[in-house]
Amino acid sequence: MKALVLESPGAIPKMALRDLPEPELGPRDALLRVLACGFCHHDRLAMIGVLRRGIRQGAILGHEICGEVVRVGSEVSRIRVGQRVVPLLTQACGECQRCLAGQEHRCLNGAGIGHAEAGGFAQYVRVRETALVPVPDDMPPEQACLLTCPIGVALQGAQDIAGVTPSDEVLVTGASGGLGVHAVQIAKALGARTLALTSSEGKMASLLELGADDVVPVGGLDFSEIVRAMTGERGVSVIMDTVGSPLFASSFHSLAQFGRMVLLGEVAGGNTQINLAEILFRDARIMGSTGAQRRHVEQAVQMVKDGRIRPVVHTTLPLKDVLIGLGWMTERKLFGRVVLLPG
Ligand SMILES: [Zn+2]
Ligand SMILES: [Zn+2]
Repeated sequence: MKALVLESPGAIPKMALRDLPEPELGPRDALLRVLACGFCHHDRLAMIGVLRRGIRQGAILGHEICGEVVRVGSEVSRIRVGQRVVPLLTQACGECQRCLAGQEHRCLNGAGIGHAEAGGFAQYVRVRETALVPVPDDMPPEQACLLTCPIGVALQGAQDIAGVTPSDEVLVTGASGGLGVHAVQIAKALGARTLALTSSEGKMASLLELGADDVVPVGGLDFSEIVRAMTGERGVSVIMDTVGSPLFASSFHSLAQFGRMVLLGEVAGGNTQINLAEILFRDARIMGSTGAQRRHVEQAVQMVKDGRIRPVVHTTLPLKDVLIGLGWMTERKLFGRVVLLPG
């Protein structure tokens, strides 16, 4: 099979399209033919060498997979050949304490797909049956591949971690990125007034079209001033932060008293500084959220089917053009996700 291999990370990473043997299956594994695979910031960080932990040389990245089951191990009972599926982000075992508690995304035995284990930047990928979620055959694969990450990830963060309700005002940072465009739609679907933060004037109209109530530009000014002006000087009750350290100070200063800030992404792998008294006197909660549980992916399927969420694909590219996608991502030229097609 053809697979895109990370040979050496760096500012211009060395990626090679190689002929590799198809993955071998254990008794509870399924072999997927990859129909589409989203290109996530996680992949970008591994490619440029910011994210090193757990990434081997020769890694096959890609965790935003939609595939068709082409072969199954001898003990597989939940999934059949021919079925269209998306994996969770880890090879969830289905048996440990966390899996049994519905926290499959944090399985105690599960290695990350497209991280510690071979991912979807390839024609085929091996996934444990307990990590697979069926999706409708009529959903285009380049859309379905976004159901776990970023859609399920944004859903878990907004619905479960932040507990967004119609009385909230939500600021989504990095709103035109792959995670942001879906976080905006989910905050709206949960009934909140939604403010979308973007660095690109050209993307403002598209964000309003997606359902954002207001767009906040990142300019020279500390944007928390603009957010305060837009919220009667209160600040927002929830921040869905997909950017992290580069904007942390202004993001945090946009938060209202008793506000909740959910960290969903860190684009630079950097540190940040904050006077802890500011958290204290705001009675603020800062929370991290990664991954998505099976139930979020199932809910994401339903929301897409109902038209409440529209998967936003900037464009599709063949695997070999991954560095073109990387360039666009670095230059923040994207609106939504780049999706790779292994062909
Ligand atoms: Zn992702
Ligand atoms: Zn488990």
